[in-house]
Amino acid sequence: MSLFTRRQLLQHGTAASLSTLARKPLAMLAADTTAPLTQLDYAQVHLLPGPMREQFDHNHALFLALDDDALLKPFRQLTGLPAPGVDMGGWYSPSPLFDPPRNMTGYVPGHTFGQYVSSLARAYAITGDKPTQRKVHKLVSDYAATISPKFYERYPLPCYTYDKIVCGLIDAHQFAQSPIALDALNRATDAVLPFLPDTALTRTEMRATLSTRPGYNEAFNWDESYTLPENLYLAYTRGAGPRFRTLAQRFLQDKAYFTPLAEGINVLPGEHAYSHVNALSSAMQAYLVDGSRKHLEAARNGFHFVQQQSYATGGWGPNETFQKPATSALADSLNHTHSSFETPCGAYGHFKITRYLLRVTGDSTCGDSMETVLYNTILGAHPIQPDGTSFYYSDFGSHATKTMYEQKWPCCSGTFPQLTADYGISCYFATPRGLAVNLYTPSRVAWKQGAANVSLTQSTTYPHSEDIALHLATDRNVRFPLQLRIPAWAGPATRVAINGKPTAAAPQPGTWFALDREWRSGDRVELTLDMPLRLVPLDAQHPDLVALVAGPLSLFTVLPAPERFTQQQLLSATRQPGLAAWTIASSAGPVQALPYTAIDTQSYRLYQQT
Ligand SMILES: [Zn+2]
Repeated sequence: MSLFTRRQLLQHGTAASLSTLARKPLAMLAADTTAPLTQLDYAQVHLLPGPMREQFDHNHALFLALDDDALLKPFRQLTGLPAPGVDMGGWYSPSPLFDPPRNMTGYVPGHTFGQYVSSLARAYAITGDKPTQRKVHKLVSDYAATISPKFYERYPLPCYTYDKIVCGLIDAHQFAQSPIALDALNRATDAVLPFLPDTALTRTEMRATLSTRPGYNEAFNWDESYTLPENLYLAYTRGAGPRFRTLAQRFLQDKAYFTPLAEGINVLPGEHAYSHVNALSSAMQAYLVDGSRKHLEAARNGFHFVQQQSYATGGWGPNETFQKPATSALADSLNHTHSSFETPCGAYGHFKITRYLLRVTGDSTCGDSMETVLYNTILGAHPIQPDGTSFYYSDFGSHATKTMYEQKWPCCSGTFPQLTADYGISCYFATPRGLAVNLYTPSRVAWKQGAANVSLTQSTTYPHSEDIALHLATDRNVRFPLQLRIPAWAGPATRVAINGKPTAAAPQPGTWFALDREWRSGDRVELTLDMPLRLVPLDAQHPDLVALVAGPLSLFTVLPAPERFTQQQLLSATRQPGLAAWTIASSAGPVQALPYTAIDTQSYRLYQQT
């Protein structure tokens, strides 16, 4: 459901200065007059069997099966309550071994609890599974019984953990109808307030402010006060009370971050990557709730700066840090780190900001960006193991492999199940008069179109095939525009047919293709997305260092492979029939190239020198 009204937008639409309007692309001005897209409810979209559904089911089952006492243990231990159950270990359980940054065991006890509750609440909204709802209610009431300021005494990252607690409780309220979640949220907020800074702080400011705190260590500087507003605004709009809006405004990091971003100044270099992309979603909530155009500008410009330093996979932030543009920094990262992209967290943040931007601007290329991250990062992540061993970094370096993180239950074990629960609501959006299809994946969406009950079922193996079929069912004939996202990379053979008849107009890459007609039950839409091979340079400084890309898929050469290819060799790669694998002819014989999802234990390379 959209959180802003047409009236709010019109009121604030006049606030933008003429100079701001003058330098913005036309498509972006849509936000001044109307809400192009609206998010659907979780229950409206069902993923059908396929890789996205598999990841959702895995995470749902894993967190449903986790022991309640083990999940609650850090909260009970730190507040002096009896604490039965096993230690989950890794970042999750308090440990005397913690010695940042040398030993991260026991880093942030209980940090992901709120995210696990959130993902289960969303899973209940999707599936209607009663044991999932019961578990959410039980976890909320067990957590509520531990709430005390004692938890945050000597705790290194109070904002970080509280932000996730807020998310878990408001999702338990909104999506799993927990009757006590908002009351627990108010008490949890009272408990943490003495430990929150007065305003959002940078790491440098943190050090200056917190170094006299009892138990201070290096990790205190890593807290993320600037990510708080998103969930605080959501708490306010979901009925937790006006103080959450005031708190949200208090933690908007305007001086160091949003104000310069809104003015077009790139302040990202050197900053922690995921949390600063995550903070862009706080700016979007400031726009949606308070109507602040400055924060919309900040989010759009910030996302643009992120895209400028992204790998061809859509990932960003080697060593979790944004790089200085127009330098060799990104190229150096290929040889100096295997920590190229913090994948579950980064993809979660990327999906959130692209969903917000899709909703507000309607710009279909935000959907292109979302699917790039989907197919080249998170969908190729190894699943979380029942003991908390987790996938964390994607490696896009010159000699890369897939690995698991050394600590159990890290941040990425919290965002992964939240993201997979959000897959469905990322696939389709309501438009003012109809429906938009954003992601092409086996799924079914149901909605009310006027008086008609309509559903649309997608069958496809895209992006391993170029064919997408959409079957429409409706209980009465109904006219509405059905919008299909045509990726900017789509080739000239892209076409759409309705009931076997090609449309008169040709779809334009980088836009929505609208089919506005009276629909009948049984109508069938076929989209063929032409996916020509292309070469994507690392950046403007390295035009000869390229990734081979097919449609949304980056293709990774399997090592050993020659140091160099010609551009012609790369662009002549052929697809192995029936397989998600390509063959590149080289001076040293044929080389295999795989999409990220098809890589298992092989060594691989994203960028080829040409
Ligand atoms: Zn993470």
